[in-house]
Amino acid sequence: MKKVSIVSTSRGTAAGLQEALDRLGGLARFVTRGDRVMVKPNLNGDCVTDLGLTEALIRLLLDLAPKEVFIAESTFGDAANTRFFFQKSGYAELAGRYGLRLVNLNESEAVETPVARPLALEKLKLAREVFEADRLINLPKMKVHYATGVSLALKNLKGLLVGDEKKHFHDVGLDRAIVDLNNTVPVHLNIVDAITGMERLGPHGGDLVRPDLLIAGAAAWRTDCVGIRVMDYELKEVGHLARYLEVNGLDPADVELAGLGIEAARHPFKKVNMANLLPPNIRVRQRNACCACLNALILSGRFLERPPAAPVEVCLGSLPEASVAGCPQIAFGNCAVKRCGPGLPKVEGCPPYPFELKKVLERNFKKAEGN
Ligand code: SF4
Repeated sequence: MKKVSIVSTSRGTAAGLQEALDRLGGLARFVTRGDRVMVKPNLNGDCVTDLGLTEALIRLLLDLAPKEVFIAESTFGDAANTRFFFQKSGYAELAGRYGLRLVNLNESEAVETPVARPLALEKLKLAREVFEADRLINLPKMKVHYATGVSLALKNLKGLLVGDEKKHFHDVGLDRAIVDLNNTVPVHLNIVDAITGMERLGPHGGDLVRPDLLIAGAAAWRTDCVGIRVMDYELKEVGHLARYLEVNGLDPADVELAGLGIEAARHPFKKVNMANLLPPNIRVRQRNACCACLNALILSGRFLERPPAAPVEVCLGSLPEASVAGCPQIAFGNCAVKRCGPGLPKVEGCPPYPFELKKVLERNFKKAEGN
C-alpha cells in the first residue's frame, strides 16, 4: 500500500487515530481476529509515545477480537532502565488496566536471526517476542536524534534488540545496521506520533514541540519520507533512510498522501546545534566528523555526572596530526581511534554509544574528572 495518512489530532487523539486509520482503509486491513499483536511504542527518555494514543489503539485492537495484544519495548541502558521508563511513562499502569503483558525486551531471550541482504551485520539478536507476534504495530515518536538525524519509524525498531546489541549497532555503523534491522523484521503498520515531538536535541535533552499530528502507513520508509518533510529535513540528513531507499531501490516520491498535505502539516524542527551544548572543560578537536559523532559527543556530555575538573580534548573525525593541546586527549569515534593510534584513551563506535565517554573519563582521568 502506497498510502500514508497525515491527520491533525487537534480534535482529540482518539478521533485523530480513527481518521488516520480510516484513510488507510481501517485497522481491520492490518489485524484480523485471532492475531497476536505486538505494539511497539518509543519509551526512551522524556519524550515518549503518547499514552492516550496507545490506549486508543489498544481499544480499537481489542474490538477486533485478537488472540492477544501486548506492548513491548527495550529502552537504552539495561532492563532496570526499561523498567524505570515503564513506570515513569505510565505504560505499566496502562497495561495493568487493560490486563495486557508489558514486555521488557531487555529481559528477553535473544534470538540470532540472519539478515537477508546484510550491510553491516550478518546476524541480529532480536527479542523472542518478535517471532511470537503475528502482527507488529510500530508507534514511533517524532524526534530529532543526535546520531541518526531524526527518530521515526525505521529507527524505532532498534527497541526490538536485546541488551548489548544496541551498542553493537553503534560499533558497526548505526545507519547501516538500522537498514539491516528493517530489512529483517516485518512491520505491518506504522503510526508516527507527532502529537508532541522533540527538537534541537534528542532523544533526550531537547525541547518539546506540539505539531498535533499523526502520520500512518503500512511501510516505515514511506511514513519516514513523509515525516522528514514535515520536520523540514532533507533525505541527505537522514543517513539510515537514504541508505534504506538506495539498498532497496525505492523512490522517496512513491507515496500517495491522504488527509493533510505536506504544506498544511509542515512543522520545521530545530536541528542539533553544538553551540553551548557541551559541559565545561570538554574541548573539541575535529576534522570532517559526521554530525552523528558530534551529536553523540553532545549526548555523552549529558550523561556525565559532573564536568571534568580540568580540560580534556576530545578528538573526532579524520585528524591529520598530533595535537599541541597541552591537556589530556581522547579519541572519540572509530575514525579518530584509527587516526590517533593506540596511545590515546579511546571511545569506539560509529558513532559511539553515549554512555562510553563517561566510562573512559573515569578510567583514564580520575583526577581530571574530579572524583
Ligand atoms: S566514527 Fe567516523 S564515520 Fe562514524 S560517525 Fe564518527 S566520524 Fe562518522
